[in-house]
Amino acid sequence: MKFKCIALINFLVLQCLAILGVSKGFDFFYFVQQWPGSYCDSDKFSCCYPTTGKPAADFSIHGLWPNYRNGSYPQNCDPNNPFNESETSDLISSMRRNWPSLSCPSSSGESFWSHEWEKHGTCSESLLDQHSYFQTALTLRQQTNILQSLKSAGIIPDGGSYSLANIKDAIKNGTGYTPWIECNEDSSGNSQLYQVYLCVDSSGSNLIECPIFPKGKCGSEIEFPTF
Ligand code: 5GP
Ligand code: 5GP
Repeated sequence: MKFKCIALINFLVLQCLAILGVSKGFDFFYFVQQWPGSYCDSDKFSCCYPTTGKPAADFSIHGLWPNYRNGSYPQNCDPNNPFNESETSDLISSMRRNWPSLSCPSSSGESFWSHEWEKHGTCSESLLDQHSYFQTALTLRQQTNILQSLKSAGIIPDGGSYSLANIKDAIKNGTGYTPWIECNEDSSGNSQLYQVYLCVDSSGSNLIECPIFPKGKCGSEIEFPTF
């Protein structure tokens, strides 16, 4: 009886903390997608196609990052919970398609997924275990077709220049939420569309308006390179 009582009290305390948002250790997620053409034509990174071949010419997942409302974020939260591919074996083919790694040397993605899990995923492990974390990111990728949203507004990856405001509007029209756009530079120093940030509530289930945007700036006209 005494044991049951203590277990019940523990459970209730955890529920209260969860409702108050105390125990989870972060406020919301950034869901970050990258344009492969901008990773590969920049001098900053060298780009290598995955061992499984050139990825599709589409936005792919960079990460799902727990964040605080004040703009800071936790990282590397649990060294005792390393990436374990066997926990996501049913998701690997979808991860290869939707979450390819373009860094060198060529890989089939494990080192990128492991980095993302260990740096970011461990900071939401009280809500999403490894399988749920990767599944959540893949589901968000299916729910947000950035390339289609842009194409519907006549914005295509043809190496042309497009207005940043039009890019944001197109993504807002397609997803329902205002994105934050991160630019990098191509080898000639032109500002270009590199990553798209959308915000997600702390359950990982719903897109939300971003409580705060990251810092950084693009030009008012940016390039959308081919891939
Ligand atoms: P950069 O310095 O290139 O903007 O970001 C380098 C890395 O720092 C990102 O890939 C990501 O892992 C982390 N990072 C940068 N900004 C944020 C942020 O606002 N939230 C979180 N959670 N991570 C970030
Ligand atoms: P962050 O710490 O910025 O979340 O993740 C970036 C790290 O993942 C860097 O160490 C980078 O080398 C590695 N990485 C591996 N593949 C990719 C990729 O396709 N895109 C980006 N942005 N980083 C990658």
